[in-house]
Amino acid sequence: MQATTAAMSKAADLCKQCGHSWNDHKLLTDKDPPLEGWMECSVAGCTCRFTWSLPAASEMDEMTKAAEYVLKKNDELYRRLA
Ligand SMILES: [Zn+2]
Ligand SMILES: [Zn+2]
Repeated sequence: MQATTAAMSKAADLCKQCGHSWNDHKLLTDKDPPLEGWMECSVAGCTCRFTWSLPAASEMDEMTKAAEYVLKKNDELYRRLA
C-alpha cells in the first residue's frame, strides 16, 4: 500500500504521455497573448508533444492544468510569455 501511494503522488509530477517530469517539458506558443500553443519534452530521444490552450476555468482539462503547471515552473519561459 505504501508503494502505491508513493507511485501515485509521484505520478502527479510526471507527464502521462511519456512519463518524464513536467520540468523537462517546454511550453511553446506563437500566440500573443499566449492562450494556446504546444508543449514538447526536452528529454533526448523523446517525441512527446501535444497542444495546450487556456480556456475558461470551467472548461479546464488535464492538459490545461499541466500547461499551467509548466508555466509556473518554467520561469524563463513564463517571462517570455508574460
Ligand atoms: Zn518525455
Ligand atoms: Zn511528455
